[in-house]
Amino acid sequence: MVRSQHYKNCEEARLHQCRCTWCGGALHGWIGWIDLTREAQGSSEREEELRDRAETEWKRYKDPSRRRRRRRQLREQVVDRVRLDLVRWLKGRPQPDLVPSPRLGQTPRRRLDDAGDESASTNTTATDPNLPRQPTPESAAEHIGGPRLPDLQGAGSPPSTSLSLADHAEALADTVARKTWDDLKDEPYLADPEVRRALANHFWCSLFLALAQLVSEFQETLDKIPSTAKSTIKELLRPGNRNSGLDALLTDLVIDKTIDQAWSNLQTALTAGSPLLTMATSKQTVQAFQLLAVFSCPNPDKHQAVRLQAINPLARDVAGAVTDEAKERLLDVFQDQIDDARPEFAAGSPVPGRRVAGAP
Ligand SMILES: [Zn+2]
Ligand SMILES: [Zn+2]
Repeated sequence: MVRSQHYKNCEEARLHQCRCTWCGGALHGWIGWIDLTREAQGSSEREEELRDRAETEWKRYKDPSRRRRRRRQLREQVVDRVRLDLVRWLKGRPQPDLVPSPRLGQTPRRRLDDAGDESASTNTTATDPNLPRQPTPESAAEHIGGPRLPDLQGAGSPPSTSLSLADHAEALADTVARKTWDDLKDEPYLADPEVRRALANHFWCSLFLALAQLVSEFQETLDKIPSTAKSTIKELLRPGNRNSGLDALLTDLVIDKTIDQAWSNLQTALTAGSPLLTMATSKQTVQAFQLLAVFSCPNPDKHQAVRLQAINPLARDVAGAVTDEAKERLLDVFQDQIDDARPEFAAGSPVPGRRVAGAP
């Protein structure tokens, strides 16, 4: 029997995996996380419930007497905590202050209306050189690795007077993922459930990352990016590319057809002048795609590119998006978050196929 309704489990990312053959992962996660940013009935209660659960699980698995499987559980809880922080930030609510601990010292209060480049802030936290290597809340942001964005035009921090970042992200996901899936789901090359599961296995988050990288490199709003850039997206997702986390079952045909459709849908919507797509600055669009990568990825705890190219820039560069406490936890459980541990990721990687000045 064919289901007429999509699974809530998939939309709300209730598990840290996606094997959904109904949507091939196109509707996974982002719908539920964006819904939480709205003051719709029950969303605040659900947010609190998820926050409580993430906190309880973190403490439970942080308990040093527990030896088995705690690494995986801790990683999952940190990722959920980061997503909940992003939800609260998108709602325009100040993050609660970090409770100062003797080790960490006093943390200056950060408010959304101070939004700016966190990396530019001065480190005012007292540090004791005798303490073990453990980032303070202030230094946590500095240690977080991943590509650093060029200084893009326009303010990117919500609340925006003209555009809600959540609305922009939703419009992008509707165009790039939901509509693309609707258009293609009856195609014979997507009939095999294994191919659908392969698509659900990090295709959409990888596509959002590639789009974020594209906009970031071009430093242009979406409507000004040349249509030839589609080939760059394909190169970024090509199996074998370091940034590609795609399932080996995905053939070039499936990847090409899906990207062709997604790109065409985006161009059509931009040409139609959809305000939720065209009003954003390039910086807002990069952040929206990064948010979508974090929200749609079934398990960023196992998808390093999502951590390095989406979680890290949001946590490090956007004041108030991720709490200091969550940043510390990221550094605690993911070694690759730290710049000098994996220097090759610190500066990001250039977009393949993009001509560098002076290059042949
Ligand atoms: Zn689904
Ligand atoms: Zn992923």
